[in-house]
Amino acid sequence: GNKIRNAKLVLLGDVGTGKSSLVLRFVKGQFVEFQESTIGAAFFSQTLAVNDETVKFEIWDTAGQERYHSLAPMYYRGAAAAIVVYDITNAASFTRAKKWVQELQAQGNPNTIMALAGNKADLLEARQVPAEEAKTYAQENGLFFMETSAKAATNVNDVFHEIAKRLLEG
Ligand code: GDP
Ligand code: MG
Repeated sequence: GNKIRNAKLVLLGDVGTGKSSLVLRFVKGQFVEFQESTIGAAFFSQTLAVNDETVKFEIWDTAGQERYHSLAPMYYRGAAAAIVVYDITNAASFTRAKKWVQELQAQGNPNTIMALAGNKADLLEARQVPAEEAKTYAQENGLFFMETSAKAATNVNDVFHEIAKRLLEG
């Protein structure tokens, strides 16, 4: 039979890295150049079928600004999965992503599946974060890593699909 598995998922990462754009791409298949800044957090829900099972993602898209930082635990506590997003053209956003990973490891649920997404992979000519560096970091810290582009629709469904697969295996 077709089981439905609910999974709370949170996106964390610096403002402007493309968290909302990744969600918009995954949920609606769309991209906008002038995505409005998220205030507080936004909620979306989207199902994904993997083999004969269905994962219903309950997605919390957080704002990323420092002034909302104290709210973050509400979203990552009890989360089945977290996607930590940085922008491959912005080294500071990668540093910030590592801080989020540390916080999740210290305060979050040890069973949370963690993904590291290096977004804006379409902007190769402006790259500041080498893919190898992020990949090594992810391996050393128990995350899986993909470079994504919400704009070009590269690896966006794949990140969610990989999370769903791991959830259903776990
Ligand atoms: P958030 O603050 O992390 O939610 O980031 P947004 O989703 O609001 O995106 C910030 C800006 O980056 C917007 O102008 C988006 O259009 C742009 N953006 C998001 N994802 C991509 C991407 O994959 N490639 C490019 N070139 N721009 C992107
Ligand atoms: Mg946003």
